[in-house]
Amino acid sequence: MGLASKIVGAVAKRLPAHGRDRAEEWLLPRRPFERLEVPASSALTIICDDGETRDLDIVELLDRHGAKGVFAVSPGLIGRPGFLGYEQLRTIRAGGHEIAFHGTTHDAFTGFATPAALEAAIGEGVARMAAEGLGTPSTLIYPFGRHNRWVRASVAGRFDCAFTTWFGLNERHANRFGIRRIPFGAYVGKLPGTEAWYQSLIDRAAAGGGWPALMLHPAAEGHTPQHTAMLGRLIEHARQRGVAVRTVAAHLSAPAGRARDPEHPPAATLPGARV
Ligand SMILES: [Zn+2]
Repeated sequence: MGLASKIVGAVAKRLPAHGRDRAEEWLLPRRPFERLEVPASSALTIICDDGETRDLDIVELLDRHGAKGVFAVSPGLIGRPGFLGYEQLRTIRAGGHEIAFHGTTHDAFTGFATPAALEAAIGEGVARMAAEGLGTPSTLIYPFGRHNRWVRASVAGRFDCAFTTWFGLNERHANRFGIRRIPFGAYVGKLPGTEAWYQSLIDRAAAGGGWPALMLHPAAEGHTPQHTAMLGRLIEHARQRGVAVRTVAAHLSAPAGRARDPEHPPAATLPGARV
């Protein structure tokens, strides 16, 4: 066992869920494709995981506020009881919201036996989404937030960026394939989760060009109608502070905001990329 692995193992024991993966990501240097310079303009991004029908509450709220959000779906779940169908997702996309990829079957990517097996599974799901009129997703939301060093390398050729469940407000430099999120409603855990706390994160983003990405599970027990109402107020709060509410794709392609990284062009321009 190499020294780096020993250190990773030692640190992992002291960390909560995803401990080893987090320790590895923290300790080992970022590879060129992982380097993301967070756009200088601040933005708030709202991401709903799993594509359950309760997401429609959020679609309605966003539409009422004239804001666009991100809806992360797994083709293996689309159309099942309690989940949005393709027709509903096409309507959401036509409304200007972003449809992101959330795994073909919602199995954790770290559980695949080999990168080739993971890439084959992703290829199937992405092709299905394209065939169903949902376009080719450029944003990946890891199922269960799980990722590690080989997973990030494996997904980098196909997606422009990927989000985890790991907590954080993205500022200055981030891992393009391990972008942090802030839980809202469900899965807040020991975080404050109060309106004042979310406002303070937005204020911090406004002051320093940060990029808070909210993670929502509108169908989960922790998410109440009060959360949906609070989200509407936070959207207005962000706008009052000059923080744009926009999708991942819109923020990463914002004029003059994008990090110039010739080693990792957007997925759509990579040779052989599905379009
Ligand atoms: Zn999920």
